[in-house]
Amino acid sequence: MSRKKELLTLMNIDTSWLKTNYITENNQQSFHDLRLEANNCQKCQLAYDRNNVVFGKGNEKADIFIIGEAPGKEEDLTGEPFIGRAGKLLTEILFSMNLSRDDVYITNTVKCRPPENRNPNSEEISSCSNFLDKQISLISPKVIILLGKIAAERILNTSEPMSFLRTKIHYYKDTAIPTLVFYHPAYLLRSPGEKKKVWEDILFMRENINVS
Ligand code: SF4
Repeated sequence: MSRKKELLTLMNIDTSWLKTNYITENNQQSFHDLRLEANNCQKCQLAYDRNNVVFGKGNEKADIFIIGEAPGKEEDLTGEPFIGRAGKLLTEILFSMNLSRDDVYITNTVKCRPPENRNPNSEEISSCSNFLDKQISLISPKVIILLGKIAAERILNTSEPMSFLRTKIHYYKDTAIPTLVFYHPAYLLRSPGEKKKVWEDILFMRENINVS
């Protein structure tokens, strides 16, 4: 039991609302093991061209879990998700939400770079799904943000267009974890006219999701 929960229980205060997002020693070990497993993974063809497995980065106790598409060239070279121009834009989006990258956990639908930055195919996404599902389970976030269509399709099992999926509350699998869909920063860089829509997404999240 956490110290906070212990004190509230002693004071006869209901603690059922407390989110148990503290990582236990076992969970930390599991996260470490999961990363090692991913680093050695050969489950799909993306293993053969990669320089690095891009497992994910950020706060392993985060309330906000962010899922992008797949590592790009710079991510593959460094092993870190969302660097380069799209990463910079994501940092700016987070800043406008009063968040830093240390407040959230960021990863991708697949952990290895598809050649020529093509979209990961369904076999690759399926092969990598175990890593993503376990990351979510270990972090137990309060909210999940899906960046772009690939992440939305994978997590929500839908083929609906982005315009339909944005500014709605979805749920991760059969959990009560609210899940939102934002445009991918790389798409916003390619389509600057759409940038204003990310502010609508942020506003929708502020008005509908309490992560404090
Ligand atoms: S993309 Fe995922 S499943 Fe495929 S090799 Fe990399 S870690 Fe393994």
